[in-house]
Amino acid sequence: MRTLVIVAHPDDIEFGVAGSVARWTLEGADVAYCIVTDGSAGSNDPNIDKETLIRTRQAEQLAAAAVVGVEDVHFLNYPDGMLQPTLELRRDLTRLIRRLKPERVITMDPTVWFVDNPGYINHPDHRACAEAAIYATFPSAETRPIFPELLAEGLEPHKVAELWLMFSEKPNTHVDITAVIDRKIDSLSRHVSQVGGRDLSFVRGWDAEAGKAGGYEYAESYRVLRLTPPESDGTQAQDSASAQKDAAQKDAAQKDTAQKDAAQKDAAQKDAAQKDAAQ
Ligand SMILES: [Zn+2]
Repeated sequence: MRTLVIVAHPDDIEFGVAGSVARWTLEGADVAYCIVTDGSAGSNDPNIDKETLIRTRQAEQLAAAAVVGVEDVHFLNYPDGMLQPTLELRRDLTRLIRRLKPERVITMDPTVWFVDNPGYINHPDHRACAEAAIYATFPSAETRPIFPELLAEGLEPHKVAELWLMFSEKPNTHVDITAVIDRKIDSLSRHVSQVGGRDLSFVRGWDAEAGKAGGYEYAESYRVLRLTPPESDGTQAQDSASAQKDAAQKDAAQKDTAQKDAAQKDAAQKDAAQKDAAQ
């Protein structure tokens, strides 16, 4: 499945989704990364040169991507630490989605403000990036009249099938990364300017915790939304009792399919993991 991961900073992907990416690329999936900010707030050293830091962090990101089989990395270079969910950012992400035509978009969960134990205020760039990415995914990417300047660039509307939110408080999907946990840590360790010399076993701890819900040794968890197909005639469902009933039935049917799909996917992934381990 063609996948685009959109995050705020170099290293966000490696903490949250690189294990899943390692699995998918092994299975032949086409995965691209988009890093929205330039990473220039990634050091408090008063002597560090900003341009050098940006170049270093982008080189680290490319190295981290290569470890899990990703070569297509896009840097949007917004200033780190001051990101806003602007229409400009939404347009830039819409442009990328229409160009790459991913079936699955992954970003963070913008509804997460705080994390307990240890206390963490979710970085405002994470929330801003996620909000822009979600609204680029829907409705901008698939709706012709939004950002008509993109049509002038030859970019036709594109419908994304699935939105995956990482670090969500309401995960419904767990990807078994047991077979590739070492590669995930290796990928993360390529961000030498950020994690060099640090003990990264806490990331294994997160993934072991996430694995419990799916019965795996290590997993990455997501809130997955399967986006409904567009109305064939372009009209919206009417806000009537019958339309709502229809929607509820559709929703229940989709949930059922989603659960079956997830179970099948997990079985396939387990199978692939066993094959991996055997090789
Ligand atoms: Zn970050």
